Amino acid sequence: MSAPATLNPAQLEAVHYLQGPCLVLAGAGSGKTRVITHKIARLLQAGYAPGQIAAITFTNKAAEEMRERAKDLVGPRAAKHLVISTFHSLGVRLLREDGQRLGLKPQFSILDSDDVLSILRDAGGTTDAALARRWQWAISLWKNQGLTSEQAEAAARDDDERVAARVMKLYEERLLAYQAVDFDDLIGLPLKLLQRDAEARAKWQDTLRYVLVDEYQDTNAVQYELLKALVGERGMFTAVGDDDQSIYGWRGATIENLKRLPQDFPQLKIIPLEQNYRSTGNILRAANNVIAANPKLFEKKLWSEYGDGEPVRVMECDNEEHEAERAVARIQSIRAGATTQAPAEWSDFAILYRANHQARVLEQALRKAQIPYKVSGGQSFFDRAEIKDLCAWLRLLVNNDDDPAFLRAVTTPKRGIGHQTLANLGEFAAKWKVSLFEALFADSLSTAVSARAIGSLHEFGRYVNDLEYRFRHTLGAEAAKPVLLEWLKEIGYEQHLYDGEDNEKIAANRWQNVLDFIDWVARRCGGQLETEGGITEETERKSILEVAQSISVILSLAERGGDSNVVTLSTLHASKGLEWPHVVLVGVNEGLLPFKSEDEEMTPQRLEEERRLMYVGITRARQTLVVSTLRRRKKGREYVQGIPSRFIAEMKLDEKTMKEDPREKLKALRAEFARRAAQSKAA
Ligand code: ATP
Ligand code: MG
Repeated sequence: MSAPATLNPAQLEAVHYLQGPCLVLAGAGSGKTRVITHKIARLLQAGYAPGQIAAITFTNKAAEEMRERAKDLVGPRAAKHLVISTFHSLGVRLLREDGQRLGLKPQFSILDSDDVLSILRDAGGTTDAALARRWQWAISLWKNQGLTSEQAEAAARDDDERVAARVMKLYEERLLAYQAVDFDDLIGLPLKLLQRDAEARAKWQDTLRYVLVDEYQDTNAVQYELLKALVGERGMFTAVGDDDQSIYGWRGATIENLKRLPQDFPQLKIIPLEQNYRSTGNILRAANNVIAANPKLFEKKLWSEYGDGEPVRVMECDNEEHEAERAVARIQSIRAGATTQAPAEWSDFAILYRANHQARVLEQALRKAQIPYKVSGGQSFFDRAEIKDLCAWLRLLVNNDDDPAFLRAVTTPKRGIGHQTLANLGEFAAKWKVSLFEALFADSLSTAVSARAIGSLHEFGRYVNDLEYRFRHTLGAEAAKPVLLEWLKEIGYEQHLYDGEDNEKIAANRWQNVLDFIDWVARRCGGQLETEGGITEETERKSILEVAQSISVILSLAERGGDSNVVTLSTLHASKGLEWPHVVLVGVNEGLLPFKSEDEEMTPQRLEEERRLMYVGITRARQTLVVSTLRRRKKGREYVQGIPSRFIAEMKLDEKTMKEDPREKLKALRAEFARRAAQSKAA
């Protein structure tokens, strides 16, 4: 690739245009984000101080990355003082400094979604969690449209909405009383401040003299107003975006903002970028073909000079497990240089999917293959508190001297061993340079810990030893499962989950995760295992302890590996703006992508947004792209027949671009796509 400092003429024009408002409207991978970082450097050259330049990104992670890139261009000293943040973090800064002007104390608290739900339940006088969540959703949308509770009530279309609007009023009163704000307020309140308070407005317009906005297509109405209030009449800003990548409509983002920009700023300079520097021709063509099925808002062209490259590959899999295995095998063979591709690093790969829950099977396959990975845009299965609890127990059994595991296990669930006892035990262990577990049985422990506490500690130690013995002597999945379940019962883990969580549904969900984890551990103990096709196969039997050992190796591997050289698992939403040499897009099936839930009908608008998601997914890939589809897929607890997504047909892969072994399968698949395409056209 070219040196990092180069820009093409259109990019240069966008970077050098400082006279007034500027919009860069261009397709994926055309260097929009690059324009922003280079424009920061240009602004510094033109005499702006670092603190006067604000760059707004869509996520905190993107902000970090942009600061890194800026550092390379302008040096660490200037980069440190640049204001690079999301709309939300910028809002926090405005409110901390000037929130008093709205009656908000500087130490106001920011509520997370769970806090909001419990206030809503309380204010609305209901225990119905689902209802509270619907209110939360409605209130958030209203706030993002800039509506007050009174306006929302006046605009309500039915009784449900009227009730929600009234709850909103009570909710807002509570927040004020608690000196708390929710996420939407982080945008809404600064806007209110700037709109109503001329002094504050003058101050901030003078502080942030140039504003740059990345991913402009996904701003919502309130964010747009905030931008307008910040830049004022002078309109010193650059926004970059791509209407084809607008994928947060469901959260109130609106493409109207793109249409309004030239109306609100008649002097707006619009600069298109047409050259794509990310993907090979085959990938780009597939992307362009898919998005061509959406109605056009702005005419855009996108070309690449990287040549056709590898064909886009469609991978047909039996089910999710099979898909995960094949994705992993592919990653391994490319990494090892076993394909036409140059050998690669783990960080050159991403597996992308539509919904968070699809990550689990992939994670398990990666763990099994001992490949380091991270899950972005959602929580890793293995990072969930309940799974970490159980892993701590397993780690402790494998290695009694693992102190962090000891501390977690001894308090999960609580067994009457208090904080002070553990602190004393810790001090004692440190003094004698032994592990916590070893310290348990030291004769002189009574000098540090009370007799009663020693009793409980000994009891815990004996239990760990006993469990270790049982786990060492239980071989094979059939025997392992009841032993593992017995263990959970003994430590009272299910009750512990329900005690720790008001919301029963969430607790039940956690318990289900635990059961899934137990299943997974047990299956790794081998023996006669039934596979998903109903076939039984015999594998080598291992003890639970051996399996725990291999799991803890994998766990510590993942922790040691840090975040840098790892495979990325990500939702399509969270992949926006990013790129990888090799991308596998999984679960490209009707129902999954485009996603369709039972109780919701597929409107043309929804389908278009799903199509933009597909476009975002395809355009993350630089050198190779695999699109994978399932013959059978899991729906709840059942398997249903999998239908390839209409988006595969829309990619219009030809014989040359589509490579699938064996030949016959390819023919059948293509016939199926053609049939689907005809159907979707007819629909
Ligand atoms: P997206 O729409 O996905 O956010 P984007 O338009 O922001 O994409 P960038 O991420 O800025 O595109 O750029 C895509 C890739 O192309 C990056 O690897 C970037 O470094 C590279 N690139 C951009 N412009 C040039 C250029 N003029 N010369 C060489 N490489 C470039
Ligand atoms: Mg970008």
